[in-house]
Amino acid sequence: MLPPTSQYRGRFAPSPTGPLHFGSLIAAVGSYLDAKHHNGIWLVRMEDLDIPRTVKGAADDILRTLEAYGLHWDETVIYQSQRTLAYHATFEQLRTGNLLYPCACSRKEIADSALHHCDELIYPGTCRNGLPPGKTARAWRVRVDDARIGFTDGLQGNIMQNLASEIGDFVVKRADGLFAYQLAVVVDDAFQGITHIVRGADLFNSTTRQIYLQRLLGFPTPAYTHLPIAVNAQGEKLSKQTLATPVDAKDPVAMLLRALVFLRQEPPAELANYDLGSVLSWAIIHWNKSRLNWIMQIPA
Ligand code: GLU
Repeated sequence: MLPPTSQYRGRFAPSPTGPLHFGSLIAAVGSYLDAKHHNGIWLVRMEDLDIPRTVKGAADDILRTLEAYGLHWDETVIYQSQRTLAYHATFEQLRTGNLLYPCACSRKEIADSALHHCDELIYPGTCRNGLPPGKTARAWRVRVDDARIGFTDGLQGNIMQNLASEIGDFVVKRADGLFAYQLAVVVDDAFQGITHIVRGADLFNSTTRQIYLQRLLGFPTPAYTHLPIAVNAQGEKLSKQTLATPVDAKDPVAMLLRALVFLRQEPPAELANYDLGSVLSWAIIHWNKSRLNWIMQIPA
């Protein structure tokens, strides 16, 4: 273990759209081990902002599973559904700074006229200089400038993106009136003083958007590490949509060892005979994320 660094504040931020499955367990275990290896604080934040996707009881179920795995959080869990006022204040700060604009485009209109970058649709800027006559505002977008935004990922190396040509003006308040993930995550990471973000590589492409918002708002940028995502035999991310099976809270040692194998930590076979606390202590001491360098996905 490294010497105490009280500055390390990490987090696991699940969306309670269902029970914890192997893919989300990897993000929980990876962020926990990285925090604890650095003698840091590890927090859990429930990202239950997307009410239509949130499943009743899932947040409690996730917390019970984390406890069963010995992954104990250090401060009170915060719930995004209770933080609307904070998102609203930040939204107003951006809006009054003339950094946002209302957008009337439907998904179909965007799909019909958008430019493409890799698989992403780039908003073509239709409403950037005002709503077309007769149209009403649906979502709110933040103007991105032509600057390149880069960061050094803890596993994936140096990344540089031009938001204007690779992402486009992106949504901070959705057509259904809910604040968007990109806005909420930036507000909450700053609010909770997060210094290190360890999460799945499915969010890799969101990071420059988040750094851009941090700069607009004068927030510090945490260190980012994107872990390989667990995929099924078809190469699809394990998720509720791909019917990933929930992790079993009854046999945490076996599942934790599976997670450690996935994370290439090479746990010795005899650990299977030890109790949960011993397995976690071994994993914290031996955590070596560099074994995952450059890996974006691994079959589960
Ligand atoms: N709530 C997001 C998810 O479950 C993760 C957000 C994050 O770690 O930044 O995909």
